[in-house]
Amino acid sequence: MRIKNSATTGDKVGRLRIKEVYQKDFGTYKKKVAICQCDCGRETSPNLSDIRSGKTVSCGCYNNDIKAEREFKHGYADTKLYSVYRGMMARCYQVDHKSYHNYGGRGIEVCERWFESVINFVEDVSDLYVDGYDMDRINNDGCYCLENIRWVPRKVNLRNKRKQPKVTSKYKFVSYDSFRNKWKSYMLDSDGKQMNFGRFNSEVEAAKVSYSKFKEYYGFWPPYCEDHLSELGLSEG
Ligand SMILES: [Zn+2]
Repeated sequence: MRIKNSATTGDKVGRLRIKEVYQKDFGTYKKKVAICQCDCGRETSPNLSDIRSGKTVSCGCYNNDIKAEREFKHGYADTKLYSVYRGMMARCYQVDHKSYHNYGGRGIEVCERWFESVINFVEDVSDLYVDGYDMDRINNDGCYCLENIRWVPRKVNLRNKRKQPKVTSKYKFVSYDSFRNKWKSYMLDSDGKQMNFGRFNSEVEAAKVSYSKFKEYYGFWPPYCEDHLSELGLSEG
């Protein structure tokens, strides 16, 4: 067996970081075993000689990836499911992924069957997949496996639906407080400073207060609001 490197504790070879090396007794012979942390998050203990020869570069995930990618290119054209798979794996095992702390960092894992290959994943979920939907876990603390996933409308859509159009009032000195779901009555004093008169359930109610306060303060109705005055029943005086 040709030695390619002299890796030892602390070194990184391929996807493996060697955490510890120890002599394992096999009875008639002894071998050095390396306890390693794989990039994918798993721990594995191959023979040190296999690491040094270049035979072992991961916990097995590297070969799975290569195999899966090759198989996928040959048999599966559904690139959407493929990207769903890559996203799931990255969130759970790629430490530098922006969402890792919410997934792998919290112990969320991908079930053995899906971890092994994207083919298994596609086989299991292709009938359930709905275009435009995202894969979600039913139990937020549970793993990615067939029993714990469902398909939900894409989050972007939800966010868009939640965004409310800006509500404006046709009356002067009335604005909509979308946080409290009420109409705010206010006006500006002679220095341009805002005076607030509270929040009301109805727009008309708020307008009546604003206009009346304006009249009280300035001695005349807000200019160019004749139509509003009759609507609000404020025209006299
Ligand atoms: Zn691995």
